[in-house]
Amino acid sequence: MFPRTLFDSDQELFRDSVRRFIETEITPFHAQWEKDGCVDRALWNKAGEQGFLCPTLPEAYGGVEVDFRYNVIINEEIARAGASGIGWGLHSDIAVPYILNYGTEEQKQRYLPGCISGELVTAIAMTEPGTGSDLQGVKTTAVRDGDDWIINGSKTFITNGQHADLVIVVAKTDKSAGARGISLFLVEASRDGYSRGSNLEKVGMKAQDTSELFFEDVRVPAQNLLGAEGQGFVYLMQELPQERLSVATNAISNTESILEQTVQYVSDRKAFGKPIAAFQNTQFKLAECKTRVDATRVFVDRCVELHLEGKLDAAMAAEAKLLTTELQGQVIDECLQLHGGYGYMWEYPVARAWADARVQRIYAGTSEVMKLIIARQMLEQG
Ligand SMILES: Cc1cc2nc3c(=O)[nH]c(=O)nc-3n(C[C@H](O)[C@H](O)[C@H](O)COP(=O)(O)OP(=O)(O)OC[C@H]3O[C@@H](n4cnc5c(N)ncnc54)[C@H](O)[C@@H]3O)c2cc1C
Repeated sequence: MFPRTLFDSDQELFRDSVRRFIETEITPFHAQWEKDGCVDRALWNKAGEQGFLCPTLPEAYGGVEVDFRYNVIINEEIARAGASGIGWGLHSDIAVPYILNYGTEEQKQRYLPGCISGELVTAIAMTEPGTGSDLQGVKTTAVRDGDDWIINGSKTFITNGQHADLVIVVAKTDKSAGARGISLFLVEASRDGYSRGSNLEKVGMKAQDTSELFFEDVRVPAQNLLGAEGQGFVYLMQELPQERLSVATNAISNTESILEQTVQYVSDRKAFGKPIAAFQNTQFKLAECKTRVDATRVFVDRCVELHLEGKLDAAMAAEAKLLTTELQGQVIDECLQLHGGYGYMWEYPVARAWADARVQRIYAGTSEVMKLIIARQMLEQG
């Protein structure tokens, strides 16, 4: 791998402990979880015991209070292992930060310790059957009724949807106010009127529980409003860069790992009396992939540094997501080709990675939406 300067020796020790945990607690079971359509719920509590959930959260709530590089290490190791069923990134990097950044002290004390221990699995429910990219078009409503809010609507494609105990729900509190009419709510899965739909059958990421969620007159107290009424869209825009960086760190690490495994495969496999690696076509393909992966790795590490400094803006994060996830699709496709027929067999990591990677260009904002964000900033500055 291209030499990196992002991590110190303590962080590399942390990486070793994450890697060992994955080797013993995840890899041996992941194929079964793919058949089950979700991971074992107890894995969340085991991860919590190790400090692998929300490591950046303050000690006051039970966190380790380290910087985002620890989240990056966890993402990288999961991606390296091809453990695509693990929803910790969505929990630690995407959903829980909303509670930390916009929650009241009472909400933080109520929820954060459970998010860190694994007692509470979180999800974030933006997408609806009728709208995904166009977030302002959400139809789910929250209507004030005395000291409560009553939520009605349905969501789909929600990561951690079956396991989630606590869902951040994007809802319209003022249908006539456009983006300013969107608010966020903390909805416990135990609320009356809340129900999970089916665990959706996907092309890849088969051990990840991705679900529909339904809200039928779900009554939550006013204290469950997250942040200020009407500010939901602003909060989403503020948090999406970290979400996209998180996807980017996963994408580049998974790509590196599959490329390394492919080097091994072509060295071992023979055709026409020589290793596949001896053909010039193989060498050229590998060289092209490696060059692009190394250059992208440097870019992503720099984006992580900028994020640590609070300087990663929406367009840079969109670039990181666009670049890494498109590259992931292209490189893994080349790697699969170099595996021949074995590359199409589910038991081979490259086959799973190929299927798993496809969604990376769709969720957390599609590649097309990333291009819109990047171009908008160019034109504003130009
Ligand atoms: C496995 C999985 C997990 C997911 N997890 C979550 C989750 O946890 N929470 C959540 O809220 N959502 C989640 N999603 C939903 C995901 O974020 C959306 O699918 C995604 O944002 C795209 O929305 P859509 O599916 O409605 O597609 P659409 O918005 O209908 O887009 C269809 C096509 O039109 C293109 N398009 C749309 N608008 C434009 C435009 N202005 N210019 C050019 N092209 C455009 C898109 O790029 C796409 O190619 C998940 C999805 C999947 C598949």
